[in-house]
Amino acid sequence: MTHMHVAGSVHADVASPSPTWLTVPADVNSLDRELWSTTVTRNEQGALEVGGVSVVELAQQQGTALYVLDEEDFRARATSFRQAFDGWDVYYAGKAFLTRSIAGWVHDLGLCMDVCTSGELVTALEGGMDPERIGMHGNNKSVDELRLALSSGVGRVIVDSLDEIDRIEQLCRELDCTARVMVRVTPGVEAHTHEYIATAHEDQKFGFSITNGAAMVAMVRCFSSPVIDLVGVHSHIGSQIFDTGGFEVAARRTMKLLAQFQQATGHVLPELDLGGGFGIAYTCQDTPSTPSQLAHDLTEIVELEARARNLSVPHLSIEPGRAIVGPTTLALYTVGTVKPVDLDGGAQRVYVSVDGGMSDNIRPALYAAEYSAVLANRRSQRSAVLCRVVGKHCEGGDIVVRDVYLPADVRPGDLIAVPGSGAYSRSMASNYNHVPRPSVVSVRDGTCHTLLRRETIDDLLALDAGAVVTRVDR
Ligand SMILES: *Cc1c(COP(=O)(O)O)cnc(C)c1O
Repeated sequence: MTHMHVAGSVHADVASPSPTWLTVPADVNSLDRELWSTTVTRNEQGALEVGGVSVVELAQQQGTALYVLDEEDFRARATSFRQAFDGWDVYYAGKAFLTRSIAGWVHDLGLCMDVCTSGELVTALEGGMDPERIGMHGNNKSVDELRLALSSGVGRVIVDSLDEIDRIEQLCRELDCTARVMVRVTPGVEAHTHEYIATAHEDQKFGFSITNGAAMVAMVRCFSSPVIDLVGVHSHIGSQIFDTGGFEVAARRTMKLLAQFQQATGHVLPELDLGGGFGIAYTCQDTPSTPSQLAHDLTEIVELEARARNLSVPHLSIEPGRAIVGPTTLALYTVGTVKPVDLDGGAQRVYVSVDGGMSDNIRPALYAAEYSAVLANRRSQRSAVLCRVVGKHCEGGDIVVRDVYLPADVRPGDLIAVPGSGAYSRSMASNYNHVPRPSVVSVRDGTCHTLLRRETIDDLLALDAGAVVTRVDR
């Protein structure tokens, strides 16, 4: 896709430069409630307000690019998952976005948390997360990471390879402990999402295949270890998934696996984790489920399978990341340049360049992810024009919002807000072009708190060691 023929890509856009799903808004100032966190409104001056704070004020105080997290919205989404999945364990997937404050909220709200590196684990613990409620993931956990997880007393380690099982056994002997373990399995589901975020088909790096028997081998291997307490199996089919069909297949195949394990060993594994991946609305094309719909559907699926196989319903867990934090946050940018570009056939596209881009949101470049945006500092009476919001980086693919209608008078100095920027934006941010990463603030009841401060060029220079001599011992 990156090798598009130059003429080809332009010609493909000629007939209609706007994608078919995108329609000209009746009111270019309106907000699609599905896309924005609950406290976002447009105030009397026409500026967006979130958590009772105007984005104009935030931009003046904090600078842009800036991520603004709506704390009330985060708490409400986390709570609604916990309440809807009553009797289940809800693990917040820390990789979506994690700071010590977030870990503290997740702990206080009664959720559990997934981490997959030492960095995430330490952040979760430092934030006050109860280790018992932490699950440790990862397909290549180092010995040090496993040692830290086991010695901190994490509630479970989700194992992903036979090499890892060996490492865990050795560490348990070293630390004189037992490890509570789940086996990550691939149920062979083709989830309807981008290839890079689909994780349950066979030909990828995660998990043990159910189909070829590898999962059963790993389970028996764990079960027969005196230092490993095998509690169940784990399946995560991918991310940004909208239909429950994939979960249904995953539940069927994992329940069958639990039944086969029971027949082979006489032992009932008590737990099943169905992973995360619940989709959110980035644009008006997306139609996410509510937590209660999901809870209803997934419970029904598992209960049906249990009845069909004469199994008791296992203790269940899920791992939403994006669906909790994604919609809580808007990314705020300042417009730097506005450049109309003539397309063949007389159409025009307006390139609106902002003070951020692929360094603070890699998802459009990585997955061709779609977003939407609005003019955030004022209302406009002008008509809508087709725009592409782009960043400041040295890449043609440095796109923030590929297709969006913005008012025709959008100009340098305006603020642009992009909803749905809470998950996998700051957490995947880079320093490409030596751009310091933006800060993340949380807003609530008219006050603003810094969760992550803005990086500075001095921060970047502090890592630049010059040319320190490293002695090599022979
Ligand atoms: C990434 C991940 C999640 C969370 O995915 P979301 O799409 O953010 O809900 C849950 N479980 C595992 C194992 C993951 O790798």
